[in-house]
Amino acid sequence: MEAAGERYLEESNKEEIKVPMKGRELLRSPLWNKGSAFTEEEREKLDLLGLLPPYISTIDQQLARRYANFLECENGLSKYHFLTGLQNRNETLFFRFCSDHVVETLPYIYTPVVGEASLNFSLHYHHSRGLYIPYEQKDNIEEILKNAEKKEVEVIVATDGGRILGLGDVGVGGMTIPIGKTSLYTLFGGVAPGLVLPVFLDVGTDNEELLKDPLYLGRRKNRISGEQYYEFMDAFVDAVKKVFPEALLQWEDLLGKHAQKVLDRYKDSVLSFNDDIQGTASVVLAGLLSALKMKGSALKEEKIAIFGGGAAGLGIGKSIYRYLLHHSVSEDVARDAIYIIDRDGLTYHGQEGLREEHTFFAKDKPAHLGPTISLDETIEHFGITILIGASAQKGAFKEKTIQGIMKHTTIPIVFPLSNPHTKAEATPEMIIKTSKGKAIVATGTAFPAVEYEGKTYQVQQCNNVYIFPGIGLFTTAFDVKTIPEEFFFIAGETLSRISPPLLFPEFPQLKEASKQIAFDIAKYAAKEGMIEVKEEADILLRLEKTMWSPNYKKYV
Ligand code: NAD
Repeated sequence: MEAAGERYLEESNKEEIKVPMKGRELLRSPLWNKGSAFTEEEREKLDLLGLLPPYISTIDQQLARRYANFLECENGLSKYHFLTGLQNRNETLFFRFCSDHVVETLPYIYTPVVGEASLNFSLHYHHSRGLYIPYEQKDNIEEILKNAEKKEVEVIVATDGGRILGLGDVGVGGMTIPIGKTSLYTLFGGVAPGLVLPVFLDVGTDNEELLKDPLYLGRRKNRISGEQYYEFMDAFVDAVKKVFPEALLQWEDLLGKHAQKVLDRYKDSVLSFNDDIQGTASVVLAGLLSALKMKGSALKEEKIAIFGGGAAGLGIGKSIYRYLLHHSVSEDVARDAIYIIDRDGLTYHGQEGLREEHTFFAKDKPAHLGPTISLDETIEHFGITILIGASAQKGAFKEKTIQGIMKHTTIPIVFPLSNPHTKAEATPEMIIKTSKGKAIVATGTAFPAVEYEGKTYQVQQCNNVYIFPGIGLFTTAFDVKTIPEEFFFIAGETLSRISPPLLFPEFPQLKEASKQIAFDIAKYAAKEGMIEVKEEADILLRLEKTMWSPNYKKYV
């Protein structure tokens, strides 16, 4: 029942910790630094005398100073840099600050501002965090992993920067996403900061502007592809298995054409999942189950159009399909409930250029429609009642799209999931106003509340941040070899169960929600014989023992 990271956890959970360094080195180590909160005794014993201003702060005083600094930042990007600067100096204070101000800080450590930061990465780079592995180092990946500051890693988030949010290929700037996501594993999943590792797999970039930019920090060559790409990935996965054999590997924002293949290639040989495919599918399932409870309907009664049949869209489609089968709906009926619309409109049998991955949900083409069947035609002809956007096409859902759905249902469910907000298929304001306040809406990124006819409609984010921290907490606490699809069903169902009266829990409740997700997954894993536990209470104890809290410990 024990997982790796045990030594680090044992150590970091004690009230008194034997700190592995002294003096300036200690002040420079974000994992151990306490800044002006080092006590007099610690300053004497740890060679810190004279290195700090004399007053000894409480963590609350430090937090008050940092909050004043945060408010001084003039724009989103400066808030982002302020927060990453704090994280790079003192992780305990950073996580305490983010957890005390979770609603205020989340848009900066995660979407949308993390996307803006990815576009400006080379210009603003100032501190090393995580690991960069360029293709040319493919024979040295083990050594690179051993160079990580952290020696017991439980969660790795790895990207090749191929498709960052809806922004496309941002090259090495994509590293902002693994950094942000590993932070969220700590903030919401309680996975200690010493156990998470962001990794950038630098396979090059096809972004011509970056290739021409004299200040660009990434590999200045076009992306490798085909066999070369998979040989590199094989080398990375082999090295992870050797150096961090029990780590959970989260694939993140890979180029669409690689995302599913990479997931399939490694899912049985290394503990891994793809967040864009599986995490998104799980949170969409949660959102749909919550919305259907509000609507008083069931998934099997709805017709679902997914606009954008890429990694996220197809992942959502397949997950809803398998979830329906799981609930005794026949294969034909389940397949018939899901419509994929990509660049060339609705995917149908015999369509010119039909992508192989789209054949599964392809429909029979209605004879009276032309060769390209638009979203609005799909809604009209097939009676769509739920619309999900995963296309990164800003404004693709029009007023007439919403009006079209309202011909088939009084309460449309519309989730424009693409992010950042510059890529969202529709604004919540348009959807709420067009549907006269009837539609149930969730977006991929943060949007302001909508005022309509004297009522305020809060807009919740349908984002995989609700799912992956709970998965990571479970795999940190328990030793498993694979992540079966059922874990994502359980995560979705649990999230929906604890969300009412909202679609999703509010962010201040997300740590508790992640614990509940990890708990329910562990119960299932125990029932399936994947982990050994004597009784349910042991699961809770184990999770609580695993969860790190941002409090200073006494150093000896
Ligand atoms: P992807 O590149 O794999 O897929 C995008 C798909 O959209 C492709 O199949 C593309 O052909 C299609 N497309 C492009 N133009 C279109 C058009 N005009 N009409 C219909 N389809 C079109 O990318 P992805 O990983 O699937 O991500 C897509 C978007 O979803 C991104 O903006 C991403 O940020 C967002 N996303 C959100 C979440 C979340 O939690 N909210 C999670 C994952 C992805």
